[in-house]
Amino acid sequence: MEAKTATNIRTKNPTSLDLGVCQQRTNMDNTPDTILCRNCNTEIEIDAIVRNHKVCPVCDTHYPMGASERLNLLIDEGTFQETDTNLYSIDSLEFPEYTEKLERDIAKTGLRSEMLTGTAKIGKNDVAIAIGDVGFIGGTCGAVIGEKVTRCIEHASENQLPLVIISVSGGMRMQEGTLALMQMAKTAAACTEYTNNGGFYISVLTDPTFGGATASYSSLGDVIIAEPGARIGFAGPLAVASLQEELPEDFQKAETLVTYGFIDNIVHRSGMRQLLIDLISFVNEKEAN
Ligand SMILES: [Zn+2]
Repeated sequence: MEAKTATNIRTKNPTSLDLGVCQQRTNMDNTPDTILCRNCNTEIEIDAIVRNHKVCPVCDTHYPMGASERLNLLIDEGTFQETDTNLYSIDSLEFPEYTEKLERDIAKTGLRSEMLTGTAKIGKNDVAIAIGDVGFIGGTCGAVIGEKVTRCIEHASENQLPLVIISVSGGMRMQEGTLALMQMAKTAAACTEYTNNGGFYISVLTDPTFGGATASYSSLGDVIIAEPGARIGFAGPLAVASLQEELPEDFQKAETLVTYGFIDNIVHRSGMRQLLIDLISFVNEKEAN
C-alpha cells in the first residue's frame, strides 16, 4: 500500500487536516495546495488557513499552533526574552525509545525543549510567559516543563509581573514516570505562592490540555480562558471510554466546561491578544490607583 505523503495530496486528492499536519506540510518542499477541514470537510487552500492563524475560515475549527507561531501572535513584536534555554529533557529512566523521540521532535519543532518561557510585552505591558508546543512528544509534561513553568512563575513572583501560561498537554510524560508526576506538586506550589504574593495569572487552555497539566498549573489561573473546541480534561476520552460508560457528545469540550464554571470564557484565537491586553491593563491600572 502506498504511503500517504504530502506530495500525493493535491487539489484533486485532498486529505483531512489532522493534528499538526498543517504546519508540517507547509514546511515541506512540494507542499499541497489544499486540505480538507476535518470538521466541515471543506476544501481549503493551505495558504488561506495559515493566513487565518491555523483556523478554518469556514467553520472556525482551531488547529494546533507551534509555540513560536503562537508567541508571535500574542506578544508585541521583538519583545520576547527567552529564559532557561539550557534546560532540555534527558532519558534519566532509560525508557525505551525515549531518546529517539526527543531527537525526532527537536528536529521537527526546531525547539530545544518542549516549552518556551521568558518575558515579553503584551500591549506594552510586561509579562512573564510560558507557551507549550503539542508537536513535542504530544506536549506531555516532564521534568523540564515542570522546572521551566516553575521558574517562570517564580520570576513573575519576584518581579511582580502578570503571568500568562498557554497550555497544551497530552498529560504527564510516561517516559519520565514519577519524575513527571512530581511536577504537579511543584508547579501548583509555585502558583500558590505567586497568588499569595498578589500576582495575576491568566491561564489559556488550547487543544488538547489533559492529565497532570489540567490537575496542576493549567487550572490555577485567576482567569482561565480556552480556545473554541479545545478538549480539556484529566483522563482522556479513550481512558474514560474503557470504563464502558456512555460519554456525552460534548464530553471534555471547552463549550461544555464553560457552562460548569470550570473555565471562565471561550475566546477565538483572533481575539486572544486583545483580551490579554484588556485583562492585564485592567489589573495594572487597578494596582496603580
Ligand atoms: Zn472547517
